[in-house]
Amino acid sequence: MTANEAEIELRRMWPGGPLRQWSERRHGNFIPLHSGGFAGRYCCDQCRKPCAGVYRVIHASRWLCGPCKRALATRVLAEGLRPAAEIIEQP
Ligand SMILES: [Zn+2]
Repeated sequence: MTANEAEIELRRMWPGGPLRQWSERRHGNFIPLHSGGFAGRYCCDQCRKPCAGVYRVIHASRWLCGPCKRALATRVLAEGLRPAAEIIEQP
């Protein structure tokens, strides 16, 4: 891990909200936040990887990346439940 990566932490944007990369200083294409600091990419609740967009999976109350959402949806379909997901951001 480089010094730059060490300064980036994962923060939940609001209670029950998605995880997002956050840093006191600007990195790459991070954007400034009104609440202070800079925000990078959203991160998946399941695999914790940064991704271009996360999806709110309502029945699971989690924010997941595409691959994790698809894996969950496959499980949901296999179990005969109704998938419920809302796209909040797309690449
Ligand atoms: Zn994921």
